[in-house]
Amino acid sequence: MLNIILFGPPGAGKGTQAEFLQKKYDLVHLSTGDIFRYNIKNDTPLGIKAKAFMDQGKLVPDELTIALLESEVKKHPAAKGFIFDGFPRTAAQAEALDAFLQSRGQSIKAMLALEVPEDELKARLKERAKTSGRVDDADPAVIQNRIDVYRNETEPVKSHYQAKNKFTGIDGVGSISEITERLFNAVDNI
Ligand code: ADP
Repeated sequence: MLNIILFGPPGAGKGTQAEFLQKKYDLVHLSTGDIFRYNIKNDTPLGIKAKAFMDQGKLVPDELTIALLESEVKKHPAAKGFIFDGFPRTAAQAEALDAFLQSRGQSIKAMLALEVPEDELKARLKERAKTSGRVDDADPAVIQNRIDVYRNETEPVKSHYQAKNKFTGIDGVGSISEITERLFNAVDNI
């Protein structure tokens, strides 16, 4: 199984690049952000709970997020592997993911981290706000909050995978196809 974590701050291009990786390596793409937005759109109990956190740029509580991720993985018993996009975002999520995969005889093969400077992230999110319809892209204070949450709570998850020699940093600045090429090279070298 080719299980990959696509990591990086808000606006780094995870969603865009995950689509290319999914196609090339025949993987299932699981984006916790997309799944939460789908639940919000459909007014499910999970969506109603998640919305308040997301609109403010806060993380949805671990308990909810971990349960969601595990049930999504279980929906794809024939998968050749997964791209985890937007998960794990906390140390507790990383530990839960490792334990969950281990219980299924699987593991994370690599964390690929898209690296983009903060000014560039803000510019991209501002641009995305024009078309995304996302409440959390529209307000600079919420964008700042998401970047701060990333620095404080999510970035430390890197060290979890660095310690296991599974971390690869990828330059996330350039054209979309250049960055795709860098990611393909990294996957081919796993
Ligand atoms: P971005 O990476 O641009 O912030 P995402 O779609 O990955 O966009 O996430 C949007 C929001 O969804 C986050 O700000 C957070 O509120 C919530 N979310 C997504 N994934 C997680 C997660 N693993 N843990 C907690 N909250 C999450």
